[in-house]
Amino acid sequence: GRSVHQIQSGQVIVDLNSVVKELVENSLDAGATSIEVRLKNQGLDSIEVQDNGKGIPPEDFETVALKHHTSKLSSYEDLTSLDTFGFRGEALSSLCALSKFHILTARAEDGAVGKKLDFEVSGKLKSTGVSAAQRGTTVTVDELFHNLPVRRKELEKNIKREYGKALSLLNAYACISVGVRFTVSNHMPKGKKVVAFSTKSNTTTKENIVNVFGAKMLLSLMKLDLHLDMSPSNGPSTQGARNWATQATDRSMEVEVQGHISRPVFGEGRQAPDRQMFFVNSRPCQLPQVSKAINEVYKSFNVSQSAFIFANLIMDTHAYDVNVSPDKRTIMLHDQTALLESLKAALTEMFDRTDH
Ligand code: ADP
Ligand code: MG
Repeated sequence: GRSVHQIQSGQVIVDLNSVVKELVENSLDAGATSIEVRLKNQGLDSIEVQDNGKGIPPEDFETVALKHHTSKLSSYEDLTSLDTFGFRGEALSSLCALSKFHILTARAEDGAVGKKLDFEVSGKLKSTGVSAAQRGTTVTVDELFHNLPVRRKELEKNIKREYGKALSLLNAYACISVGVRFTVSNHMPKGKKVVAFSTKSNTTTKENIVNVFGAKMLLSLMKLDLHLDMSPSNGPSTQGARNWATQATDRSMEVEVQGHISRPVFGEGRQAPDRQMFFVNSRPCQLPQVSKAINEVYKSFNVSQSAFIFANLIMDTHAYDVNVSPDKRTIMLHDQTALLESLKAALTEMFDRTDH
């Protein structure tokens, strides 16, 4: 029979995309400056993420894949000032339950000697072996959902779309992660290994975008640097009337929108790639309403093309909720209406000002 653990592990690992997301975030949390994602058969056979991060210390081997074991959170208050992606300790535990899973890890002080860790379905450490390894961690997820036939079938049926979604997410991480080399490849059973894209240890997001989407981006992109201030109390007259509650919300009423957008009109016949990436405080996320608002403004300047958008919304952590969905991809903005209005106005003004 299936264990409770296998069934409950549906929380963070729901599809190919979530596997890729959790593993890449762990590599970034480990301070990696190089991350290689290797898929086999678009991820159906294998998903492997190799990094050059700090590695896993031996004292953590027993607990690393146990549910709710994390090395990243020391107190509950830390939740509001989180500077790592992970904090729940659920991904590795779920992957043990849902795939054929193992880890190879080495720290700087281990020289070229790494440890290969194998786990029980429960996440309990089964065995440790010695293996040659460079500094860093390689996590291998083979045959995702092999023990859940319905989910496995679903994955096989949708693998093309799943693969596309995973690539889009990887694009977003690669573009936002300044100073981190990304290489993403896929190896089909009877074909050759194909590199989907790669970046360098670039120092700007623009260089990352050019690596991922091609040199033609250099011509089409313009800088996004909008300051949105939606405080109702800009004038001095309301200052005295403010109480604690409004003061607290005031802080969350300023938003910086930073990034790049394709010019509404540029050279005849050139087509901006239809790609859109959104981030809140540098975390990739879905912001369908923000996307819609930007597209509306863009369309009013250029009806025939859609925008390339790379937009990072910098805002107070109290201005949104990330915990509404277990996979942390959907974000609830508290003051969405005001933000969208302000964003549309600022973007319209910016397009008006530029000589497109
Ligand atoms: P979380 O990221 O929420 O802590 P995970 O289940 O994703 O939970 O990972 C559990 C723990 O395993 C992490 O807290 C970290 O200590 C360790 N770990 C996972 N992946 C890596 C990695 N690539 N490099 C170093 N340590 C890792
Ligand atoms: Mg994690």
